[in-house]
Amino acid sequence: GRPDEAALLEGLNPQQRAAVVHTGGPLLIVAGAGSGKTRVLTNRIAHLLATGRARPGEILAITFTNKAAAEMRERVEHLVGPDARRMWVSTFHSACVRILRKEHATLGLRSSFSIYDAADSQRLMTLVCRQLDLDPKKYPPKTFSRKVSDLKNELVDPEDYAATVSSANSFDSALAQAYTLYNQRLRQAHALDFDDLIMVTVNMLQAFPAVAEHYRRRFRHVLVDEYQDTNHAQYVLVRELAGVDRDADGAGDRDGLPPAELTVVGDADQSIYAFRGATIRNILEFEEDYPSATTILLEQNYRSTQNILSAANAVISRNPGRRAKNLWTDSGEGPLVVGYVADSEHEEARFIAEEIDRLAAADGTRPGDVAVFYRTNAQSRALEEVMVRTGIPYKVVGGTRFYERKEIKDAVAYLRAVANPDDAVNLRRILNVPKRGLGDRAEAMIAAHAERERVSFGAAIADAAAEPGATREGRPVPEVLGLATRARTQVRAFHQLMEDLRAMDAAGARPAEVLDAALDRSGYLAELRASEDPQDATRVENLAELHAVAAEFSEQDAEGGLGDFLERVSLVADSDQIPDAAGQEAGQVTLMTVHTAKGLEFPVVFVTGMEDGTFPHQRSLTEEDQLSEERRLAYVALTRARQRLYLSRAAVRTAWGMPQELPASRFLDDIPGSLLDWRRAESSMDTLRGRAGSGFRAAGTGYRSGEGRPDGRRAPARSGPVRTGKLESTGARLGSATPRADVPGLDLGDKVTHDSYGVGTVVGLEGAGSSAVAKIDFGGGQVKRLLLRYSPVTKL
Ligand code: ATP
Ligand code: MG
Repeated sequence: GRPDEAALLEGLNPQQRAAVVHTGGPLLIVAGAGSGKTRVLTNRIAHLLATGRARPGEILAITFTNKAAAEMRERVEHLVGPDARRMWVSTFHSACVRILRKEHATLGLRSSFSIYDAADSQRLMTLVCRQLDLDPKKYPPKTFSRKVSDLKNELVDPEDYAATVSSANSFDSALAQAYTLYNQRLRQAHALDFDDLIMVTVNMLQAFPAVAEHYRRRFRHVLVDEYQDTNHAQYVLVRELAGVDRDADGAGDRDGLPPAELTVVGDADQSIYAFRGATIRNILEFEEDYPSATTILLEQNYRSTQNILSAANAVISRNPGRRAKNLWTDSGEGPLVVGYVADSEHEEARFIAEEIDRLAAADGTRPGDVAVFYRTNAQSRALEEVMVRTGIPYKVVGGTRFYERKEIKDAVAYLRAVANPDDAVNLRRILNVPKRGLGDRAEAMIAAHAERERVSFGAAIADAAAEPGATREGRPVPEVLGLATRARTQVRAFHQLMEDLRAMDAAGARPAEVLDAALDRSGYLAELRASEDPQDATRVENLAELHAVAAEFSEQDAEGGLGDFLERVSLVADSDQIPDAAGQEAGQVTLMTVHTAKGLEFPVVFVTGMEDGTFPHQRSLTEEDQLSEERRLAYVALTRARQRLYLSRAAVRTAWGMPQELPASRFLDDIPGSLLDWRRAESSMDTLRGRAGSGFRAAGTGYRSGEGRPDGRRAPARSGPVRTGKLESTGARLGSATPRADVPGLDLGDKVTHDSYGVGTVVGLEGAGSSAVAKIDFGGGQVKRLLLRYSPVTKL
């Protein structure tokens, strides 16, 4: 049955209650984190239904992720029953897909039109650029893709854009041509890219008033959560769907319908999607756009303790040009925010695991109560490894687990097949990876031979690779039937490659060296590098990470061979098979990026990597706007915590196979000391260095690099001064104390080109040999740190 009205208002504060019962003109709810915005939105929907002011079919609620949509729907259903199912609760993109699937005929689209994801559209753009004969060095398809996305988010179509271009031979005019052709090719393919979903829906609603009227008649209540993260196209979409609120007396617009009741909730301090074109302007100027709007402020935070709230407020209050808020809580001070400085990312992870165990013993904290955040997905590996080793159940949200990624599985398959020539599964996995003309048919012939001769798949490959008439142990090698000559040649090359790698391993090569040889000689790396697909660039980064894992392994265990390395990898990779002993009840620790944590809350939160150059992200350090966005991101991170908040950093973090010393995050410095309980205020490495007097200064106050080892190899990570690549965090520090690295052929100031990023300038060099890293400024705020072995960089 329906809950009575009073039940839906119970426990709400007066402002929340006013927001739930509000009727009439547009409603804007602006408030800080954890003040009940989402709860008010949910209760408002339930209230509309319970009081009969709306039928479920009249409600359109927009959330930022599908997960949030599912949660909201569930909560409304819980409050008002299964009737709620006919509401639309979805993301902008899902809502538009639904509309477009219904209206496809209006647009001349096939009902089964395809939706291109980022990788697909990038591939298409590459083809388009090729067709237009555009030099990829001067006009990187990747850049074009991003620009087209920006234009679509601004609702600028190809003709509009072309009209703004003045000079015929410019970058802009090339872009205009590419945009035009790209859209034509999309339409020919009956495909829409991600940004089209919004833009095409908006265009359709504007071009076909009857269609627009249909949806306006249907959706009498439009509610948008996380409004601060809408971009211009989404903003216009909301306006088209709700109808324009032109005059204060609420009279309708062109189709005579009164506008829908529009409710938007958001927090300008939590706007973290500027890179996708989101504009805080939408929330800041809502009142101007909708003159009859009512604004309600929520000031009580129900989520966090006072100490957590104070720390978050201290960080966000440094942002210029924000509206100050007066957020308070009556849930008590709670424990202090715990600070921790680890020696390395591994030690940081270990601290977190130990703390999770300690909390479990102390007050019954369950894994499901805990979340661990990081700034970028690549940071999850060290955390995952410790979780596996300590048996703490965990899940990674958004982003595949490291060892489950395709390229990592492929690379590990090579190593396994080297270590074990009879490993059929792994041999079959890589037989035609990268493609070498050994498709299903060739594989089937080899498998049939193995069966017939009762030998392993690996032995069958050896047979297939044998020269005609060859003998083994005095007997002729049996012929593998049904293999074409070309396939035979290819098998021979593949077999030779594997045998060479095995010889390397037998001669005592380090696992990292075998890995490098496998990726180089198979052509695997070259293929990824040559690809224009941005996903392939990520794959190369992941392989660089695997190289780092292998190199690190040898440092810890100089005698360790390939078998030992693979054993360690298996322990981590097979985590899936380990049953969750803690059971469903206790749940799993959640590992996720801060971006995916938006809107969520956890009793215990660990924010990791609180280093300048990690969080805030390196590329934000020179741009004030980007730094403000990082600060909002930090505010989001800190305000996810309900009872306990941990902020940790690593004095040395290894990225790109290079240990880097990173100063403390400036966000840590913003938090008053009285709120922090430093479990460990400096790393043991800082202490070591302090004593050695080798020119290092204490953590958090900046540092100078030490001397490199003469042989150019880095010392084990935990025993004294390390040759470090220095992450230049500010312009002023740039290059000042970086030891000259012997990167063959590259010097500071050199101009280079990169297949995906275009032309850049070398602004930093670190490390040597296979660990050599160059920091390259590609312009437009894009500074990349590239492990040269894995980067297609050419000196100009
Ligand atoms: P964010 O800005 O992070 O999205 P929010 O403003 O949407 O936060 P909610 O997630 O709706 O905040 O609420 C935060 C927490 O406070 C939730 O656990 C919610 O159930 C609780 N809460 C909200 N209002 C009340 C209230 N009046 N009484 C008790 N708990 C409340
Ligand atoms: Mg919310």
